[in-house]
Amino acid sequence: MRHMRTDEIRPDQEGDEIRIDGWLQESRNLGGIAFGIIRDRFGTVQVTVKKKENPEMADILAGISRESVVSVIGKVKRSDKTPRGFEIVPSEIRVESMAETPLPMGVVDKVGAELDTRLNNRFIDLRKRRVARIFEFKAEVLHSTRQYLRSEGFIEVNTPKIVAAGAEGGSTLFKVDYFGRNAYLAQSPQLYKQNLMAAGLERVFEIAPAFRAEASDTVRHLAEFMSIDVEMSFINSSEEVMDIAEGIAFSAVDHLAKNCKAIVDEAGIDLKLPKRPFRKIPYGEALEMAASEGVKLEFGEDLGTEGEKALGKAVINQYGEEFYFITDFPTELKKGTFYAMRRDDRPDLTTYFDLDYRGQEIVSGGRREHRIEKLAAQMKENNLDPTSFGFYIDAFKYGMPPHGGFGFGLERFLQKVLDLPNIREVILYPRDRLRLSP
Ligand code: ATP
Ligand code: MG
Repeated sequence: MRHMRTDEIRPDQEGDEIRIDGWLQESRNLGGIAFGIIRDRFGTVQVTVKKKENPEMADILAGISRESVVSVIGKVKRSDKTPRGFEIVPSEIRVESMAETPLPMGVVDKVGAELDTRLNNRFIDLRKRRVARIFEFKAEVLHSTRQYLRSEGFIEVNTPKIVAAGAEGGSTLFKVDYFGRNAYLAQSPQLYKQNLMAAGLERVFEIAPAFRAEASDTVRHLAEFMSIDVEMSFINSSEEVMDIAEGIAFSAVDHLAKNCKAIVDEAGIDLKLPKRPFRKIPYGEALEMAASEGVKLEFGEDLGTEGEKALGKAVINQYGEEFYFITDFPTELKKGTFYAMRRDDRPDLTTYFDLDYRGQEIVSGGRREHRIEKLAAQMKENNLDPTSFGFYIDAFKYGMPPHGGFGFGLERFLQKVLDLPNIREVILYPRDRLRLSP
C-alpha cells in the first residue's frame, strides 16, 4: 500500500484505500467513537473508529500512547465534522514505535516548556510545526543566498576549520590537540578568503560554522554559528562590498516574501521589503544618534549592545528603516583588526563597516589592506611579527589584488527576521558556554 503525505489526501478520494504514517498526536475515546490525530511533517488527519462497527480496532487505537509512531491503512470517508472535510476509517493500525509515558515535554500543550527543557529534548520540540518552520525558513535563506551570490559571479568554497592561528585574537579561540600540536577551531575563514584572492579566484563565498569561545552568556552569541563569508577582488571602494552584503539581506527578505508565504504567515511576521540602497551612517553620526536615544559614548568606543539598540531605535524613529550600515569605523577602534584598510584621506578612519538590522549587528566587513608594507606596519602596531604569519603574509608578496569582504551571521539575521528573543531558537543544537549536548 502506497504511503501518502497527510496533505496529499482530499475528500474526493472517498472510498480509496490509503496508508498514512506519522505520530499519534492524540487519541480519544468518546462513548461510541474512538478517534486519533495522526501528524506528519505536512499536517494532520483524523482517524475514526465506530465501536459498534469495529470494537477491537477502537481498543487498539485507544491503547496507543501519545507520540507513538503508527502506520494506518484505511479508507477515506467524507466528513463535515473534521477540519479537512474527511476522516480515515482504519482497517489496520500498526504501531511502529510505542512512545514511553510520560513524555519529557508536550507537543501540542497550551503551556510552553522552558527553552532549556526544549533544547534538551530538541527532537520533540521540533515536532511542533511552529518550531520546524524556523528551520524551513533557514533553509530558504541559505537557498536564496547561494542563488544571489552565484548570480553575482561568486564561487562557493570550503576552507579548513582546524587552523594553526586565529584571525580575531586569542581570547575566543578554542584549542584542540592536533597530533600533539596546538591547533584551533577557526573563528572565521578570513585568512583563507584573502589567500584565495591572491590565488585569483576573484569572488568567493563560504557558508560554514565559525567557532568562538564566547565566555559571556547572551541572547545573541553562540560558540558555533553559521557564517556567510564573502571576499571579492578588484574593488575600488568599500561601497562595492556593502552592496553585496545588502544584496544578501535584501534577496533573502524578497525570496521569503515572494515564495514562502505559508512559512511567513505561520511565523506570524510582517515582512517589509527594505528600501534600497540601505542607509549609510558614518560612525561619528551613529554616536550622535545613539546619544539622542540616551546612550552617550566617546569617539573611539565600541557601540556595544546598548549603543546598537539605541541607534536602531533612532533610525526607526527618524527614517522608519530597519537595515542600515555603520561606516568609517575609527582606526582606534579597529586597531586589533590589523588587516583593515584605513582611509587614505583620513588615516584615523577605516573602510570598515557593520550592517545592523533593527539595533543588532549582523555583518562586519570592509576593504582589506593589500599593500604589504602597510599591512606589515599595521601588524607591528599590534605587536605582531609579520614573518611569523607564514602562508598569510606570503600571499601578499607575489601579486595581491585590492580586495574586501565580510562575515554575515546567519543566525543573527534569522533571529531578527523572525523577531525571536533568543538566538538559540534559530539553531538546531546550540553550542554555548554551558551547552555541549545534544
Ligand atoms: P559582536 O560584537 O556582536 O559580538 P563581532 O563583531 O565580534 O560580534 P565579527 O567578528 O564581526 O563579530 O563577526 C561577523 C558576524 O558574525 C557578526 O556581525 C555576527 O553576525 C556574527 N557573529 C559573530 N560572533 C557571533 C556569535 N558568537 N554568535 C553568533 N553570531 C556571531
Ligand atoms: Mg563585528
